[in-house]
Amino acid sequence: MSLRPIVLSDDPLLRETSRRVRRVSPDLQELVDDMIETMRAGNGIGLAAVQVGVPERVIVVQALKEPEEEDAEEGEEELRLGELYVVINPELARTSRETEEGIEGCLSVPGWVGMVSRHCSVTVKGMDLEGKDVRIKADGFLARVFQHEIDHCHGVLFIDHIDDPEKIWPVEEGEEEATEAAAHLRQASPE
Ligand code: ZN
Repeated sequence: MSLRPIVLSDDPLLRETSRRVRRVSPDLQELVDDMIETMRAGNGIGLAAVQVGVPERVIVVQALKEPEEEDAEEGEEELRLGELYVVINPELARTSRETEEGIEGCLSVPGWVGMVSRHCSVTVKGMDLEGKDVRIKADGFLARVFQHEIDHCHGVLFIDHIDDPEKIWPVEEGEEEATEAAAHLRQASPE
């Protein structure tokens, strides 16, 4: 496994539509391993292959679990990782009519977050690393991350969804706990 450099938003590669993956190969496994390592190193919770310079439809997602009440009582602020998903040729099979706004950031747009409207729940379909069909139902925060990563496969960045300049702002240094898709759970629900 190795870290790969992240492609930044001024690179036209991020605007390309990624190619469909035709077969699962050892190269693909290596790409996915590197993506996972790169995502974690950047405190990311999702990454699309195009963000490491490979315009193929591959995403990895490992969102944070919402803090449980128990933890909150103990004053524990540790953010815990949820399940790791690897999806090849991901597509939104279903989307809820309901949408909600939430805060997003992106490893390719460092230093900025913004308020983006997304479907509250989605069903993602695609393939796993064994070439088997997968269907994933996701709600809320996880649904948001999947929508953000699938957008990358189509050359779309979260900033494209924002037309009000007041809905995008720079992140204070040191506040960036988890970038890519949803920056701060805490900031998303201010007291
Ligand atoms: Zn992103």
